Amino acid sequence: MSAASTDPKRTGLEKQGLEDTAPPQSSDQLSKVMSDLPIAIYSCDRNGYITYFNDAAETLWGRRPVTGIDRWCGSWKTYHPNGYPIATDMHPAAAFLKEGVENEGEEIIIERPDNTFRNLLVFPRPIFHNGEISGTHNTLIDITKSKKNAENLTLFSAIVESSSDAIISKNLDGIIISWNTSATRIFGYTEVEAIGQSIHMLIPPGLRDEEDMIITNLRAGRSIDHFETVRLSKDGREIPISLSVSPLKDSKGEVIGASKIARDISEQVEKEVALYESSQRLEMLNTIGKAIASKLDIPDILQLVTDSFRQVTGAVWGLFIYNMAANGEEAQLHFTYSGISEEEFQVWYHTTGQDFYISLLSDDRTRRVDNFAETTGYDPKIIESTTSLGHLPIVSYMGVPVLYGSGEVIGRMSMGHTLPGKFTQAHEELVTSIARQAAVAIVKGRLYAEVKTMNERKDEFIAMAGHELRTPLTSAKGYLQMLEMRDPDLTTAAYIKKSLSQLDKLQTLIEDLLDISQMESGQLKLEKDVFDLVRLVAEVCENIRFSQSTHEVIFEKPMRIMAVEADRHRIEQVLINLLTNAVKYSPKAESVRVSIHHREKEVTVVIKDQGIGLTADQQKNLFQRFYRAQKNSSVRGMGLGLYLSKKILNYHESEITVSSALGKGSKFAFSLPLFPMD
Ligand code: ADP
Repeated sequence: MSAASTDPKRTGLEKQGLEDTAPPQSSDQLSKVMSDLPIAIYSCDRNGYITYFNDAAETLWGRRPVTGIDRWCGSWKTYHPNGYPIATDMHPAAAFLKEGVENEGEEIIIERPDNTFRNLLVFPRPIFHNGEISGTHNTLIDITKSKKNAENLTLFSAIVESSSDAIISKNLDGIIISWNTSATRIFGYTEVEAIGQSIHMLIPPGLRDEEDMIITNLRAGRSIDHFETVRLSKDGREIPISLSVSPLKDSKGEVIGASKIARDISEQVEKEVALYESSQRLEMLNTIGKAIASKLDIPDILQLVTDSFRQVTGAVWGLFIYNMAANGEEAQLHFTYSGISEEEFQVWYHTTGQDFYISLLSDDRTRRVDNFAETTGYDPKIIESTTSLGHLPIVSYMGVPVLYGSGEVIGRMSMGHTLPGKFTQAHEELVTSIARQAAVAIVKGRLYAEVKTMNERKDEFIAMAGHELRTPLTSAKGYLQMLEMRDPDLTTAAYIKKSLSQLDKLQTLIEDLLDISQMESGQLKLEKDVFDLVRLVAEVCENIRFSQSTHEVIFEKPMRIMAVEADRHRIEQVLINLLTNAVKYSPKAESVRVSIHHREKEVTVVIKDQGIGLTADQQKNLFQRFYRAQKNSSVRGMGLGLYLSKKILNYHESEITVSSALGKGSKFAFSLPLFPMD
């Protein structure tokens, strides 16, 4: 390294400077020390040309300077810490040389040849030669790292302070060691109040175990993420929070405490609770709606609705005033109530009187009152009467109209509570929904009542008409049979036979219609007997053989009795229906087959044909009233036989089954319990 010669003269500046500071060439040791120093040192002559530099200076330079050619700041641009560039001749070392300005420890920023920046503290000192300043040497301390750390620290504190979450740290004994602004906002304690206190002051007594769990995790170096729990504020409120806890470690990696981030989730919890409550309400409405919709009888509907709105609002009593009269007619009131006895209602009714309730029905608005006695807008007489002896007390009150279609008030739902402010907006919405469902159900109930009346009239008519038709039919058949016995000529005999067969069909039809009307009004009575089903099947087969000549009826008759307890006549009806169908719907076949067998405690009859068969869809609808699979069939029928057969078997708690393939034939079967004969 080159060195400037020194002068031992002392000046004001000399006290701080070196006397010929370049390391003596002779002293290898000192030269090595200078060279190895971790801080950059260089010297230059009066004109700023480099005369000496150590390794750290070379590194900082970014390249190796050439002594005597490079000047002190040749490879850098320099800036003030505020970012303004420093003019070349105002560089601290240059300024020192030029003006003797003492700017020791001044901070500058350099931009190196590779465009990286460094923060430096500069310590320029003079070099004397013969008492004259012959140059300068400069010591540069690189403070980039500590500067960055300080900046990071400031940034970090700003982040911690501006966080909307509480950020708290504590040592392993649970003593709070830091506390940010949001911690104060959420928990109410100031930083001064909190630091030094145990973290237990925030934990509800019942949750102290949580802290042990947290500490155990921390000691094991584990973090806890988004743990939802509750903490206490200074004023004793419970605050739902989401907690994340991470271990704090010292430079050796030892866990020395924990940092906690607590997020106040009260709002989120409130929203969740509100969501839960509204889904509960929807669920409740849904259940009530289904229950209401399943009822057809108006008094049942009204009672269910009254119980429901009282239950969902928590009202002490509920009253449904229903106007049975059709629009425009004089009001006919029907009351259902819940939470009060018949006697209580009577007292109430007589206190206020019918007119009061009628007047309520002209009100098509919802009324919600926190304290009835203090509310203006109600007739004082009513208020007085509601607090009079015998009347159930009303403090909170809510009345909701039941509106139909164009706004006709068909009823009003009233409810009350003995305490004030019991009915909320949410209750009002719920009850309004129930009122809507009630209106629909009531209208449906009215229609149902109408249909029921009409149906009863129809049944009466069929029963009466059936009876009136049977009598002339029986006498017409009687006369024809008498004619048949008088040896008629062949043509007349043929006509008589045809007429009798047509009258038989008419008779079956009348009987079927009568049966159906009886079954549907629940009036069909079974006349049960114990009889041999094998024998009955054999008889029916014989009759079918006799009444038609197109098909052979094959019955594989078992050689034993199979007794059942049933209505013989009705089962015969089923057998005739099935066998007639088997013949009717297998025009190209020559036979139909009947079999009967028993398995365990059941006896099953199977009627099989090789006829036109049925599609899967047709099979599904087969047992409906008036259903005919082949709409334009030339085969006569009303679509009542299978419907009746199914009903008869249902009356016997049995089912009829079908399996069929289009064009291949069908198999109908039914079973009855075998009657034990021993
Ligand atoms: P109907 O025979 O008077 O029309 P049913 O109630 O006895 O009335 O039968 C209903 C319909 O089922 C019939 O119209 C016919 O389309 C179909 N059906 C009944 N039995 C058979 C069968 N064995 N094969 C094919 N179709 C049948």
